[in-house]
Amino acid sequence: MVVKPLLRVDLDAFAANLARIRTQVEPAQHMLVVKDDAYGHGLEQIVRRAWREGVRWFGAFDVRTGADVRRVAGPEARIFAWIAATDAEVRAALDLDLDIGVGEPTLLDDVARLADGGRARVHLKIDTGLHRNGIRTEDWDAAIRRAAEHEASGAIVVEGIWSHLAEASDDEDDAAAAAFSTAVEAARDAGLTPRIRHLAASAASFERPEFRGDLVRVGAFAYGIRPAGGPGEGDLGIRRIASLVAPVVAVEPAGVRVATGSLHGLPSTLAGRVTVSTPVGPRRLIRVGALESVVESWREALRGDEVVVYGEGAASATDLAEQTDTIGEEIAVRVSPLVERVWL
Ligand SMILES: *Cc1c(COP(=O)(O)O)cnc(C)c1O
Repeated sequence: MVVKPLLRVDLDAFAANLARIRTQVEPAQHMLVVKDDAYGHGLEQIVRRAWREGVRWFGAFDVRTGADVRRVAGPEARIFAWIAATDAEVRAALDLDLDIGVGEPTLLDDVARLADGGRARVHLKIDTGLHRNGIRTEDWDAAIRRAAEHEASGAIVVEGIWSHLAEASDDEDDAAAAAFSTAVEAARDAGLTPRIRHLAASAASFERPEFRGDLVRVGAFAYGIRPAGGPGEGDLGIRRIASLVAPVVAVEPAGVRVATGSLHGLPSTLAGRVTVSTPVGPRRLIRVGALESVVESWREALRGDEVVVYGEGAASATDLAEQTDTIGEEIAVRVSPLVERVWL
């Protein structure tokens, strides 16, 4: 019997996914992406287990997340943060001994200036078409020359070159990968010796071996979240790790009310489109509210009965996402931080 909504996270299933990723991408290494509180699964528990399972690289997004990872994983972990922008953030990143993603030529100079005798580990990002953040192709030659100067002065070391794929079409990804290779070649010609090339996230790291480089940045598959419109979990060899469990709070003529406790709500348009798992089998989700939802009733429903909205024995996060034109990650990170996490 449950009284509050909770997110049940199966850390053994998570460990199995890590092992699956490791064998799939070898000899490339796996950087576990842990942004957004490890996609809502709880950064501390996720990082601790991943470290125990042999993960040595973590993708932190911002410096604050990098600090959390450092605290949990210890001094040996390699932690990549790619959203440092201000001097204060760069200084903090250096203090924390993070690997810093640099997608702006001016940031390169900032990092070199702030490194203050230390050797800042930098990963230069080439924009391969996403136009989000990344050094533009036309600025690349100047940036790598500058990086070589900073390396010669001892302020930085260019550890890696990276980019991010749109994963929207194979053709676009092929073009991006070609631009990436050209950028790496140019960097070598400029005298840099980047040891770590990284380009692929979950989908490309499994489906496009030629894009793996030395390191893959994988979040979704580690959390058992398959791509919307893509292959199933069975085909990928991954397992769901989280179940959103909602207790029955009232049995009413119109249906069974369950507490989902999701502040941002499941997309209300899910109503009528999916089934949830109840003690007597699947039932339709009739209405989705901000904190509570209504499920088609069953005989002998009781307060405290468990309804699984997504996860083990129910629809997956991605199944729900596909009904509302989003991705499974979006469903996972929308689960309110106020919903208690329980790690098994
Ligand atoms: C979120 C993110 C990833 C991980 O993507 P998944 O599809 O969840 O594996 C990789 N790289 C960058 C830059 C990201 O922002």
